[in-house]
Amino acid sequence: MDIELVEIFPNSVKFILSDVSLSYANALRRLALAEVPSLVIEDVYVLRNTSPLFDEFIAHRLGLTPLKYDIDELDLNFRDKCDCGGIGCNLCTVTLMLSKETDAQTTTVVYSGDIVSAQEGVEPISSKIPIVKLGPNQALELECMAQLGIGKEHAKWQPVSAMGYQEFPIPEINRSKCTNCLACIDACYRGVYQKVGDEVQVTNPLSCTLCNYCLDFCEPGAIKIGSNPSKVIFSFETNSGIPPSKILSKTGEILLTNIDEFKKTLELSLLEKDEKE
Ligand SMILES: [Zn+2]
Repeated sequence: MDIELVEIFPNSVKFILSDVSLSYANALRRLALAEVPSLVIEDVYVLRNTSPLFDEFIAHRLGLTPLKYDIDELDLNFRDKCDCGGIGCNLCTVTLMLSKETDAQTTTVVYSGDIVSAQEGVEPISSKIPIVKLGPNQALELECMAQLGIGKEHAKWQPVSAMGYQEFPIPEINRSKCTNCLACIDACYRGVYQKVGDEVQVTNPLSCTLCNYCLDFCEPGAIKIGSNPSKVIFSFETNSGIPPSKILSKTGEILLTNIDEFKKTLELSLLEKDEKE
């Protein structure tokens, strides 16, 4: 297996995975979406709410506010597996406070940036997510409990979004049939083709999504969209404040743990079968 990075940003990545099957890529996708944990607000204690929104409405918005934390620094336990028995302690729960009020003359918007965490390094990934607008003489005072969870339990814990893969595309122009009409340049919304000198050329093959839309605009056989099934282009964005490289290494760890568990269970059941016979 080989990994070639195409691009990496603080919250997104695109890479080429070689010598793997599509089902292997799908296993990675599903593990990252469903089993890599992230930190999200789960319980909200409303101390005061005279805003126009119901308590439940605000709690829902807070639950969908992505939190940033250092997955290496903050070694949290899953709450249901913590020694505290799931009551919530500083080993499994992060407390966040939100308090804002207006006087008779002012109105204001409560943003995610108003959430104050008791744990250093934990904060919303953006301070500009609006939560509720307060009119004159209104107040909002809350205590929130954030905990680790996985996407399998609830989609709010999915640490990634727009996670997908596709076969490695190989768009080719057959010079003997191409009339150089340049129609494919406008037809391709991904900008795969460009005019270089006097003729059209494939300048951005990795952007091809194998949609074959360009074929409708060309002479038959002028463009051939091939693919390499043992190579996949994988891309995703993170929405949990965890860097993409960390999500991938965590996915690998989970895959190994799952295989290990499968191996142990298999060995045990074979042993039991032998003992019975
Ligand atoms: Zn605990």
